[in-house]
Amino acid sequence: MCRGTGAPRILFGTMHARARIIAMDGPVASGKSTVGRALAKRLGLCFLDTGVMYRAVTRVALDWGVGLSDDAALTKIAQAMQFDFSGAMTPDDLPVIRCEGKEISATLFAADVDRAVSQVSAVRGVRDALVPKQREIAAAGGIVMVGRDIGTVVLTHAPLKIYLWASVEERARRRYEERGANGAAAEYEVILADLRRRDDLDSTRALSPLTAAADAVVVETDGLTIAQVVERIVDIAKKAGVA
Ligand code: C5P
Repeated sequence: MCRGTGAPRILFGTMHARARIIAMDGPVASGKSTVGRALAKRLGLCFLDTGVMYRAVTRVALDWGVGLSDDAALTKIAQAMQFDFSGAMTPDDLPVIRCEGKEISATLFAADVDRAVSQVSAVRGVRDALVPKQREIAAAGGIVMVGRDIGTVVLTHAPLKIYLWASVEERARRRYEERGANGAAAEYEVILADLRRRDDLDSTRALSPLTAAADAVVVETDGLTIAQVVERIVDIAKKAGVA
């Protein structure tokens, strides 16, 4: 249990200082993380999935029994989170996230966090606390940063913005296969309903709703492999002078 007086602590790694910045957004399960990580590796950039920051706040809130409509308490948790960038932040590293000495990284993708994170990330104080931390990380340059509002809010001056698009059915199918479900149609339907619910919450919220930036390149991924998507973005990045 992650409770006490000390601040929750998140440890990522260091940035390699370069000026190339790629902002990548897209709906849940659009492949942002996998594609972003592979792209960063290919281009020799750092990688940050901002979703884990919202997940970390949600994890702590759930563990501490904080109500999901208690905006003030959620804001305090987000403000108290410390991000330490002193290690290596290469695309191969998964972020190590600790709360009061206890590593919580492994539990950030648990079902209870999946269910609650969209509600937590809609809180103004939470976003106001996390967005400056994300900008600070990107200030060193040389990064692929993925999320929902990276191109529209966090890094509006990024030289390249990618919006990854995939139909909700395709995304549900990918997630279903990822989880190794063995043919239970009901399981697919549950995943599909959950993705629709989270899409709806993320794209209709008042603050930083999920949408493609006006200057983003929309990459449609239905029917493409991860490698094909990465190649497509590398080509776009070359044309944009970012690769
Ligand atoms: O990408 P992932 O599904 O891990 O993100 C978890 C949740 O965090 C999203 O559903 C969204 O509500 C929130 N999020 C956000 N802004 C970001 C990244 C994630 O609101 N930049």
